[in-house]
Amino acid sequence: MKQYDIAIIGGGPAGYSAALYCARAGFTTAVLEQLAPGGQMSTTNEIDNYPGFDDTVDGFDLAEKMQRGAERFGAVTEIADVTSVQLAGDTKLLKTSEGDFEARAVIIATGAAPRELGVAHEKELRGRGVTYCATCDGRMYKDKTVVVVGGGNTAAADALFLAKLCKKVYLVHRRDSLRATRLYIDALQKMKNVEFIWNSQVAEFLYDAKVQGVVVKNVQTGETRRIEAEGIFVAVGRVPNTAMFQGQLELDDAGYIVADESTRTSLPGVYAVGDVRTKVLRQIVTAAADGAVASHYIEEYLA
Ligand code: NAP
Repeated sequence: MKQYDIAIIGGGPAGYSAALYCARAGFTTAVLEQLAPGGQMSTTNEIDNYPGFDDTVDGFDLAEKMQRGAERFGAVTEIADVTSVQLAGDTKLLKTSEGDFEARAVIIATGAAPRELGVAHEKELRGRGVTYCATCDGRMYKDKTVVVVGGGNTAAADALFLAKLCKKVYLVHRRDSLRATRLYIDALQKMKNVEFIWNSQVAEFLYDAKVQGVVVKNVQTGETRRIEAEGIFVAVGRVPNTAMFQGQLELDDAGYIVADESTRTSLPGVYAVGDVRTKVLRQIVTAAADGAVASHYIEEYLA
C-alpha cells in the first residue's frame, strides 16, 4: 500500500497545477494518471490561449512541461488506472491497476470526454475519419468535404473553423435551429460553403478503410439522405469522467462534481478541479487556476 498526503486523480493541467502547489507546500503528493500527462490538452496541436508563450504551443509539449514543473518540487507521477475509491473518512483509499493507495486528501482532476453519437462502428472509425476535435484534426481535411454533427456552440464554432479550411461543410443537427450564440449563427449563415441539414440524425457511417460519408435520417419525415464526406466531426457535448464517484459525491444533472470556486466537494478532504467540476468556463487556464485554489484549501484542511 502506497501512502501520500495528497493523491491527485488525473494528470491534465488541473491535476499538475494542483501537484505543483501541493508539493511545493511540502506535502507528499502523487498524480495518478492512466496513460500520459495532459488530458484533453494533449490532443490539441495549437494552444493560443494559455498565457506565457509568445507563439502557439503544442498541447503535448505543454503537458510535459507541467508534469516536469510539478516533479521539480517532488510530486510523483504514478502510472495507474484508478478503478474505485472510498472517499469518506479521514483516510481515503484508491484502488488502482497498480495496487492500493492511501491519502489524507484527494483531488479529482479526471476531466471530461467528448460524448459519442452512439452510431454503429463509431469507435472503430475514430481516427479513420470520425473525430471529436476540429481544432486538433481540422487541418487534415483542408479542401475536403466534412460533416459536423451537433447544434451547440462547439458544433457552430467547429463548423465555422472548418468552413474556412474545407471545400464544403454540412452541419447536421437534430433540431431546426442551433443552440449557439448569435455571433456564430450570423457568421455561419454568411459562409457559402456551409449547408445546414436540420431535424436530422446520423443513422449510419459509410466507410471502407476510411470514412466515406454518412446516412442521415430526418427525425420528422423518416427520409434518409446519403452525404459523401471525408471527415465527420462529432460535437454533441462532453461527458465528465465521474462514474466512479457516483453515490459518494454530489453530482449535478449532467454528472459534473458539484464544487464552487473553492473546489471543495460534498465530502471533507475531497476537491474537484478543472473540467470535472461545475463551472462556467472550461479552459486550460481555469483548470490550472483550480489546482492552485485546491492546494490553498487543502493546506487549511490538513492543518
Ligand atoms: P452543448 O451545448 O451541450 O450542445 C450539444 C449539442 O449536441 C446540442 O445541440 C444537442 O442537441 C446535440 N446533441 C447531444 N447529444 C446528441 C446526440 N446523441 N445526437 C445528436 N445531437 C446531439 O455542448 P457544446 O456545444 O460542446 O458546448 C458545451 C459548453 O461549452 C456550452 O456551455 C457552450 O456554450 C460552451 N462553449 C462555448 C463556446 C464559445 O462561446 N466560444 C464554444 C464552445 C463551447 P439538442 O440541442 O437537441 O440538445
